[in-house]
Parts: sequence; structure tokens; C-alpha cells
Amino acid sequence: MSVKVGIPRALLYYYYYPLWKDFFESLGCEVVLSDKSNKGILDSGIKNTVDEACLPVKLAFGHVKNLADKPVDYIFIPRLVSVAYKEYICPKFLGFPDMARQNIVGLPAVIDTTISFMRKRHNVDQAYKQLGKKFSGNPIKVRQAYHKGLRALAKYNQLLLKGHLPEEAMSIMYDRSAKASQVKPCGDLNIAIIGHPYNIYDPYISMNIIKRLQSMGVVVVTPDHLSEDEVRHQAGRLPKKLFWTLGQRMIGAGYHYAESEDIDGIIHIAAFGCGPDSMTGELIERNIRGSTKLPFLNLTLDEHTGEAGVITRLEAFLDMVRWKNSPKKQFIS
Ligand code: SF4
Repeated sequence: MSVKVGIPRALLYYYYYPLWKDFFESLGCEVVLSDKSNKGILDSGIKNTVDEACLPVKLAFGHVKNLADKPVDYIFIPRLVSVAYKEYICPKFLGFPDMARQNIVGLPAVIDTTISFMRKRHNVDQAYKQLGKKFSGNPIKVRQAYHKGLRALAKYNQLLLKGHLPEEAMSIMYDRSAKASQVKPCGDLNIAIIGHPYNIYDPYISMNIIKRLQSMGVVVVTPDHLSEDEVRHQAGRLPKKLFWTLGQRMIGAGYHYAESEDIDGIIHIAAFGCGPDSMTGELIERNIRGSTKLPFLNLTLDEHTGEAGVITRLEAFLDMVRWKNSPKKQFIS
């Protein structure tokens, strides 16, 4: 019977799942995902979390608990320190494996491999090779598994660059019956959604904002549809470099889309109580107010956010964008 490795469908799942899945499966493990986010998972996350946690971290606690209940042999919660040279990600990622161990009763073994790209790419490669040794004594097999994971990640990123959203890209890669590749987004407005991946792509905490907008005739684009070079080039316009990798992606994408002639408006999604989000939102908004006057909406999510309020704000925002685009607007007052 193969070893079951659980992966929470939370936090950087939306960035790295193909790498993790192919890596563990190549080493003979069975990868088990937590269920899709729902009220029960968020409620259990809130019950098992620490007081200072932000919304996506609370949700991540719920996903870890969901895996513990399945059950699995291991839960993979990498200690993510840095995913780019001389940059960091939020310290809440760094402490997450310890917080989960401390707060969730009955947790199976946690694999908390440290991922730190802060100094050298080599450190990350070594971390995966060390991790692989847990499941295979054959270093060649471990190396092959890691390279297979990297190839899967490259393919996934290519699909995002072609305009697919994460769940579509994963369906194309792993679900042979998926028709996602044939679906062409269409609508009369192009709206950029800027936010942390675990906020904008999680259908439950985002209140399905992407699907909702699509059903209202909007083509949605996100930071992940832009190349790394482009977002870094745009973020480089800041007088001082941001050392948060995800914040750089958001600012770079915000600046890019603000200048794009195809974009009709920008929606920034923030998590209540998130320091980095309040700063990125402010920087993107100031840039827009100062130059393009593109319609901009800031939505802040927490567990008490009401769906009706979000829908009303989205509808009002889209009405305003459509009115602004209308050639007859000067005759209506
Ligand atoms: S960046 Fe913000 S939303 Fe993300 S984990 Fe940190 S505090 Fe939470």
C-alpha cells in the first residue's frame, strides 16, 4: 500500500501543486488533496487557529484539519521562507507548520521542509533532494522525481500565461476528460483582479468572484497571466524594491494593467487584517488615481463578509465601468 501524502488546498497550493504532485507521485506516494473550501472547513479552521491569523491562514488550518480527518500518513506543509532571490514571503508562512502542530489535535506526521531561495536556488534543489530521501533511497529516482515536478510546474505556468486560471490549468493537466482547454472566455469588459492567489482563486473565501464576474459578462485577468519579467519590470518602477515576492507580483501586475488599453477596470482583493495587502492596494490605487483614472474597486474579505454586499458592489462597479465606456454618457446626468 502506498504512503499517503496530504496536501492542503490552500496558500501556495495555487502556485506549486503540480510540482508537489508530480514529485511525490514519482516517488510512489499517493497524493491526497483536502476537500474544496467550504463553510465547514473555514469554521474548523477558525476553531483550530491562533488569534492573530488572517483569513487565508484560518482557512489553511481548516484544510490541514480536513486532511488529518481523512486520514493520511503525512501532511506536507513546507516552511516557506523565500521563493525568490533576496526576497521573502509573509512570515505567517514560515510559522505555519509549527502553528498547525501546536493547535490541531491528532495531526499525522508533518513534513515541514524549509524552502528558502533567499540566497541560492541550490538551497531549494537540496531541500527537495533531502525530502525525497524520506521516500526513496535511490538518489537518481529522487532527482528524476524532482525534475518531473519542475517540468509539471513549467507546463502549468505556461497554461497560466496562455490565459487559463489555476483550476482550469490543473484540469487540463490532470483530468483527461476536461473540456476546459476549449472554453474561450468572452464578455464585453476586461477586468483585472489583483490579490494574493489564495484569496482570488479560492472560490469559497472569494465568494466565487471570478465565476461571478464571468457570468456578468467579464473577461477576468490576474497577475498570473503575466510573465515574471513583466511584473518585475513594472514593480521596478517603485522607488524602493519591495521584499515581499507576492506583493511585487501584485504591484507589478497592477501597474501593467493600469496602462493596458484593453483593461476596463481593476479590482483589488484584500484580506482583512493583512498588512501587505493594505500597502499593495494603496500603491496600486495611488498609481491609478495619479495617471490613468481607470475604475478601481477595493474589496476586503473576512469570514463575516456578506455575499449580498459583495454582489451589490460588483454590480455597481460594472455598471459604472459600462457607463464610462458608453459613447452616450455625456447625455446622461
Ligand atoms: S500576506 Fe496577508 S493574507 Fe497573506 S498570509 Fe500574510 S497576512 Fe495573511
